[in-house]
Amino acid sequence: MGFSFSGAAARGDVGESDRPGADAGGDGYKIVLRDLRQVYRIRGVDGEGPGDFLALESFSLNVAAGEFVSIVGPSGCGKSTLLNIVAGLARADGGQIFIDGKAVTGPALDRGIVMQGYALFPWRTVRKNVEFGLEMKGLAARERKEVSQRFIELVNLEGFEDRYPYELSGGMKQRVAIARALAYDPEVLLMDEPFAAVDAQTREMLQDELMRIWEKTGKTILFVTHGIDEAVILADRVVVMGANPGRIRAVIDIGLGRPRTNQEIRLSPAYGEIRQRVWESLQGAPGEGGPRLGLRVGGAKGGPLAREA
Ligand code: ADP
Ligand code: MG
Repeated sequence: MGFSFSGAAARGDVGESDRPGADAGGDGYKIVLRDLRQVYRIRGVDGEGPGDFLALESFSLNVAAGEFVSIVGPSGCGKSTLLNIVAGLARADGGQIFIDGKAVTGPALDRGIVMQGYALFPWRTVRKNVEFGLEMKGLAARERKEVSQRFIELVNLEGFEDRYPYELSGGMKQRVAIARALAYDPEVLLMDEPFAAVDAQTREMLQDELMRIWEKTGKTILFVTHGIDEAVILADRVVVMGANPGRIRAVIDIGLGRPRTNQEIRLSPAYGEIRQRVWESLQGAPGEGGPRLGLRVGGAKGGPLAREA
């Protein structure tokens, strides 16, 4: 059983699954997102009454096991809305999500989440933060310590096990968040602008580190960002979103070699070309401050949703 539909979510001409055979529940894909739709109730502004805001519409995507997919789009286009739905932290108003063919109905340990900001437990040390999911899984103390040590080493934080989050730099905190998400061994990693709060140099280091870890662990990654460079450098495919309503504008195969590092990628001529393609897809993708009023489909009384094509 997936999310229930409230009203007919019309399939758009973009945002269709871009690979054949999307009709069965999982159909061999790790993640299947089908016709996701999210509507927010909004307060009235500029003398208008409250209405419904269509934040996500007809979002369909299939992700293969072990694939690294970036989702890029302007602020307010529904990236976090989408990720929260896939995480099971929010419930979609329409559409379905399958992971390994099983409908997602809430959060579970099959998905690791790394959010914007750091979201560490401030009262827990690095080690205790990393062990959080292992406690949820019921691992014994000795086993927890073994596993957490492995992931602390994987993100290069050896020697910092007993520090508290306030004693760490932004980049280190984000590495703890990644280690925490990886430690309980989810097959899917959901990342929402995880490197947005660190300086450019640290960001590149973390990107390289994430790619290294991904190659080592074979996770399936959905990585949300508003940065074109970041999206292209990391991913096998880039999903370009537009706002008002949040939807897929294009899905672009990156096709740059692996393993990659920032330095290698930036020097390759293919990078400039593919970056340009993503940039062009993003153009005309209105961000916040776009024609929101055109989407106030509810009106003062909050009538039925009906959006013009
Ligand atoms: P992004 O992560 O791409 O910046 P979000 O998913 O956070 O975008 O938000 C998408 C749109 O939905 C934005 O216009 C935002 O203002 C709106 N929105 C997000 N959450 C809510 C909410 N709880 N209530 C009303 N509107 C919301
Ligand atoms: Mg966001």
